[in-house]
Amino acid sequence: MKFDIITIFPKIFDSYFNESIIKRAQNKKLVKINIHNLRDYTIDKHKTIDDKPYGGGPGMVMMVEPIYKTIKKIKNQKSKIKIKEKIILFSPKGKKFDQKMAKRFAKLDRLIMICGRYEGVDERVAEYIADEEVSVGDYVLTGGEIPAMIVIDAVTRLIPGVIAKESLKEESFSFSKEKLLREEQYEYPQYTRPESFVINGKKRVVPKVLLSGNHKKIEEWRKK
Ligand code: SAM
Repeated sequence: MKFDIITIFPKIFDSYFNESIIKRAQNKKLVKINIHNLRDYTIDKHKTIDDKPYGGGPGMVMMVEPIYKTIKKIKNQKSKIKIKEKIILFSPKGKKFDQKMAKRFAKLDRLIMICGRYEGVDERVAEYIADEEVSVGDYVLTGGEIPAMIVIDAVTRLIPGVIAKESLKEESFSFSKEKLLREEQYEYPQYTRPESFVINGKKRVVPKVLLSGNHKKIEEWRKK
């Protein structure tokens, strides 16, 4: 699967995508992450990507033209085969990202992500360029770069071959039954060594059942 990120801060991603599972997924060619610097698609010598809002108001708004040009360039690289792709714009007013959306995105061949900054993005991007607006939660971040990392991380985990199937089976939000209570959607609590550990003067121990070797009882406890 290909991820294409449109951003004015391409370096932000260097560290995160070069570690751990995401790095291995790229090395195994299960995912490809392309980062596009929006400033490479500007039309003036100052590489301007924002301007004052029409109608007045504080701050600056990202212009539609460089974003449109970047998308056109990305889509031009497309092979002759028809691919399943989506363009998403990160926005606090978008649809809330969740595991269901991550699963839907994991079935695509390509996900193009537009990271906003400043006061936001010219609304014509949401209306006529992006397929969906996506929010990562009801709070305001300074940019769409962290949302892009969140989406890539959650989607990459679901791509076959990235993580052992066994690990995904009982993960939080992976249960197939609809209308589960919120607490029923979480994975069971996990413990590792040591069996006993003193925290603020009190011995805190691992639940006995997990040390029992009785798999039936362990399963019951985990379900509970
Ligand atoms: N003025 C905007 C508002 O009040 O809704 C906030 C703009 S925010 C400072 C700049 C950019 O960060 C947004 O255009 C968006 O791309 C990204 N962003 C901020 N919060 C976000 C969130 N909760 N989910 C997704 N993207 C977000």
